[in-house]
Amino acid sequence: MATFAPPPRRPLPEAADVVVIGAGVMGLSVAYQLLRARRAGQRLHVVVVDQGYLAGGASGRNGGGVRAQWSTELNIELMRESLTLCAAFAREHRIHTWFRRGGYLFVAKEPAKVAMLEASAALQRRCGLATELLDASRAAELVPELDPEQIGRASYNPDDAVVFPWPFIWGYADSATRLGAEVHPFTEVIAVEHTGGRIDRVVTQRGSIRAPVVVNAAGAYSPQVATLAGVTLPNTPHRHEICASEPLKAWLTPLVADLDTGLYFSQSSRGELVGGVSDPRAPDDHDQGSSARFLALYSRALLRLCPRLERLKVLRQWAGLYDLTPDRNPIVGEVDEPSGFFQASGFMGHGFMMAPVIGKCLAQAILTGTPDPRLAPWHLRRFASGELLDEGMIIG
Ligand SMILES: Cc1cc2nc3c(=O)[nH]c(=O)nc-3n(C[C@H](O)[C@H](O)[C@H](O)COP(=O)(O)OP(=O)(O)OC[C@H]3O[C@@H](n4cnc5c(N)ncnc54)[C@H](O)[C@@H]3O)c2cc1C
Repeated sequence: MATFAPPPRRPLPEAADVVVIGAGVMGLSVAYQLLRARRAGQRLHVVVVDQGYLAGGASGRNGGGVRAQWSTELNIELMRESLTLCAAFAREHRIHTWFRRGGYLFVAKEPAKVAMLEASAALQRRCGLATELLDASRAAELVPELDPEQIGRASYNPDDAVVFPWPFIWGYADSATRLGAEVHPFTEVIAVEHTGGRIDRVVTQRGSIRAPVVVNAAGAYSPQVATLAGVTLPNTPHRHEICASEPLKAWLTPLVADLDTGLYFSQSSRGELVGGVSDPRAPDDHDQGSSARFLALYSRALLRLCPRLERLKVLRQWAGLYDLTPDRNPIVGEVDEPSGFFQASGFMGHGFMMAPVIGKCLAQAILTGTPDPRLAPWHLRRFASGELLDEGMIIG
């Protein structure tokens, strides 16, 4: 009888120029962009290691929402660039991404949220986005199932989009590998060594790799990885649940997000309604289990906004981890010490959409030694100096 034998695993190299810890969308984007942006003829050995399989982290569990509607100029500018990169991804990486530009419709009723929505929409228009502010009846024209009574104001950017997340991981992994990167799944990092204030070596349970540059893209495990190098990150993991319904006839074009409840939902190309909701009481640990409490919260928030969905059947639910920072903004860039140790973490519910542009910025910073000045506010040192940031257009 034939027995299945897994293929022999490729040994780890003894040395590399850059080791990326985490083969989620962020780590793979950085790896790909490093190789794409290196000088012609430059030899650059990039190794990506992951403790699990590709798409096992938040990158394989998310809703695929990609938008430029934010409340700060920095996020609007970066995400506009990321949307362009997402739109071009299929052609660049020769993989279908199910990119659908149906727009994002944000709604709000609480006065403080309405004020924030209005101020953000005005800023987005000043930044050149096509965002429109809508009253309740115009919003219900766009999505007739919405109850106008529950809407004070809405903002709509037709250029926002939804994608299927997995092809982004496969696309980046394939393209990076084609350009010379090594991607090693099931390779857990257990130590990050430095000497004389400089990063020196990454130790995994399969062997160690000497490298002068290490990127921490370990998602909700980034603080644990940072600790291995003696660096403290203030991030905490937070479970975020999501579900998919039975397939329905196509009825919904934009992704709808309710700033009052943290509800969001979109319709996939297969007809399923895919959505989630904020749960401030979800555990702050690495639990990725599913709960009945989520289903109750989700259905309550969904029926408040769309009473006609009363008979909708949920077919699947799952969960992933948000990686939260105290000011709900990311931590990106090289830490002060040890040098050569770069961070890309704290992306909460929007790291998927940010990965294309952040990968580019971080790769440039690593290759040139000059950080992108736009990302200066996202440096880890802001938590010590007290220069915390604010971003209102956050859901989930
Ligand atoms: C349910 C849900 C819905 C979401 N919806 C959206 C959305 O619509 N739009 C959006 O932009 N974002 C969304 N997000 C957020 C988004 O998924 C994340 O911000 C993004 O995927 C983070 O990518 P990452 O590569 O940093 O982390 P991850 O994808 O989590 O990857 C980190 C990797 O590091 C590996 N790792 C950890 N520790 C080690 C170690 N010691 N050694 C080796 N490897 C290690 C892990 O195995 C993992 O594969 C959602 C998240 C969830 C959970």
